[in-house]
Amino acid sequence: MKMVGLPAFKDNYIWLQHDAKKAIVVDPGDAEPVLDYLQSNKIGLEAVLLTHHHHDHTGGVRELKKAFTDAIIYAPRNDASKIAVFDKTVSGGDQITLSFSEFIVLDIPGHTLGHIAYVGENKLFCGDTLFSAGCGRVFEGTMVQMYQSLSRLKALDNEIEMYCGHEYTYANLLFAKTVEPNNLFLQKRLQEVIHLREKNQATLPVKMGIEKMTNPFLRCDSAEIVTSVKQHVGLENPTPVEVFSCLRAWKNKFSI
Ligand code: ZN
Ligand code: FE
Repeated sequence: MKMVGLPAFKDNYIWLQHDAKKAIVVDPGDAEPVLDYLQSNKIGLEAVLLTHHHHDHTGGVRELKKAFTDAIIYAPRNDASKIAVFDKTVSGGDQITLSFSEFIVLDIPGHTLGHIAYVGENKLFCGDTLFSAGCGRVFEGTMVQMYQSLSRLKALDNEIEMYCGHEYTYANLLFAKTVEPNNLFLQKRLQEVIHLREKNQATLPVKMGIEKMTNPFLRCDSAEIVTSVKQHVGLENPTPVEVFSCLRAWKNKFSI
């Protein structure tokens, strides 16, 4: 089995997993790179897994379904009204059995109300909820929902490899370093990421164990982050959710 990250648009990745015959594609915002890959490797399309309704994650579905009419398109149930083409809807707790892999669905609302993640074969596909060293913007849900969704992902095993929807890692790490400057794991990850990006390589996947040690949005209980937040907004004894909301608002205005 092979995993490929097809770059799309400015910084999206379309994740494609395949054996000798068939592929599973996650969040194909654009059909063209997927069709090119499948055709040049002579493989079919078994299924498409969608994490949320945004166009940069779903825009290629209509054309893929036209080219591979047997492919099953899985869409998040609570985002489905905003997705034009799909075959089945899924939500938290559902299981998807495909020819060479099995996935469990997790509800992770916040970025959109219906955002879901797919977990299986030691891999996590989490769209725009968790990024390496960062997290998605809270567009439709509440800060509490997003905090809870990230907590759900934080509970996953350290060995699970995280595949998110965008290459935002470098910029995210610069923010992470600002709020937690003495985190040595973070400094090490930043060096690795600088080397990868110099060679124009993806910084993904990344193990959840690394994310738990370096991603400030999964570290709202870190003493150094709590202190940074206190100084930034003048909160006395912030709860973890307050720390999270502050980090998210701070990051929205942060520029390199
Ligand atoms: Zn999105
Ligand atoms: Fe996106």
